[in-house]
Amino acid sequence: MGGRRFLLCGAVVASPGVPLRSPGYVAVVDNRIYDVGEGTPPDTVYTSEWRRLDLSGCLITPGLICTHHHLYQTITRGLAPDATLFEWLTTLYPLWAHLTPEMVEISSQAGLALLALSGCTTVADHAYLFPKDVDPFEWIQAEVAAAQRVGLRLYLARGAMDLGRSQGGLPPDEVVETIDEALMRMAQAVKQLHDPKPDAHVRVALGPCSPFSASSQLYRESARLARSLGVRLHTHLAETMDEEEYTRERFGVRPYAYVRSLGFDGPDLWVAHAVHLDEEEIAAFAEAGTSVAHCPTSNGRLGAGIAPVAQMMRGGVNVGLGVDGAASNEGAQMQAELHQALLFARAKEGPTALSTQEVLTMATLGGARCLGWEAEMGKLEPGMLADMAAWRIDSLTDSGIHDPLAAWVLGTPRAAEAVWVDGRPVVQSGRLVDLDMEVLACELDTHSRRLLQAGGMMR
Ligand SMILES: [Zn+2]
Repeated sequence: MGGRRFLLCGAVVASPGVPLRSPGYVAVVDNRIYDVGEGTPPDTVYTSEWRRLDLSGCLITPGLICTHHHLYQTITRGLAPDATLFEWLTTLYPLWAHLTPEMVEISSQAGLALLALSGCTTVADHAYLFPKDVDPFEWIQAEVAAAQRVGLRLYLARGAMDLGRSQGGLPPDEVVETIDEALMRMAQAVKQLHDPKPDAHVRVALGPCSPFSASSQLYRESARLARSLGVRLHTHLAETMDEEEYTRERFGVRPYAYVRSLGFDGPDLWVAHAVHLDEEEIAAFAEAGTSVAHCPTSNGRLGAGIAPVAQMMRGGVNVGLGVDGAASNEGAQMQAELHQALLFARAKEGPTALSTQEVLTMATLGGARCLGWEAEMGKLEPGMLADMAAWRIDSLTDSGIHDPLAAWVLGTPRAAEAVWVDGRPVVQSGRLVDLDMEVLACELDTHSRRLLQAGGMMR
């Protein structure tokens, strides 16, 4: 046995579906978990060749998986603070039309940095907006470069909008593509960036944006294209009542029935939000094996409603967690999303709606299932990728809380102490390994001012 090998010891180890190991240890060889055990690692197996990291006072979890984001939005946070989704979108679309690939790279770096610092190791990013005068491939390459820089895995949902205002859609014409452009560029993104290997750092899915910004034809054709290329499908669905009114008025049906009729259905699809699903639709989701990316903070920020996640999970629907774009979730931190998910679920569906163990599952294994990646990530088990996060649970914030998951989920949302992707540290002692956070904060501020000036929203 050669290569890199190390041991995380002395911490509480939490993984979906198994009791806490307290203390436990995790052994890593190269980019995979070699073993997970209870107590002290035996000296007979773990000789002096193994580097030991003492993580006493910490909780170790699988790396969190963010199943829905829009990284380009990190540069436009805090705008339209009191608006509905449609008002918020119509305020922001014209501003986003001024984004450059350089701004997208800084915005993505910042978004990915916030995720890494909050324990995330894989992010699904829905990139659906491409201004007319920008090279769209350069735009997504900027995101890929940012993910490589920060060190996280990126699942890029190459989205598109083709229903500009002149066609009865919500976005202005300068941020939409034609159907032919969108399909050709989607295929190009898959061909050039999608890596099917089990330990890939970049994968690509296809995802028309939403029923009110993408045409029926784009939905139908991109479903066909994704299936011919063997990649997954993603879209926004049933986020607000406005969306429901939109599809009822134009197509005479609710949003899910509408996209289903266009091929958006099945185990290769995960949808963002699913706030407004009725009982029948929940049963149909379970039957089809379609997953949900639950984004509670964004849904709260935009007053969209609260997705019935407990009902979905009891009904057999797989649910993962996402932060959604940072323009509707200014914090955009994964660990805070767990806290929010639990509180929202109990507020809506009662005190037994969601347990701390279930919310851990949602943020890890549930996310991996959304992305069809559950054979490699989402659990701490031998053979899985060494994507992990360690969290301090011994400071004043948690002092006297003797249930580690209660501290982690119910207590104050927190940053990760350390994060590993492929067994390689991305965050150490609460700081990014490969990026200077202070420099990045300055760059984000400078570029966001430039963007607001370009969009006439700042002098
Ligand atoms: Zn979204």
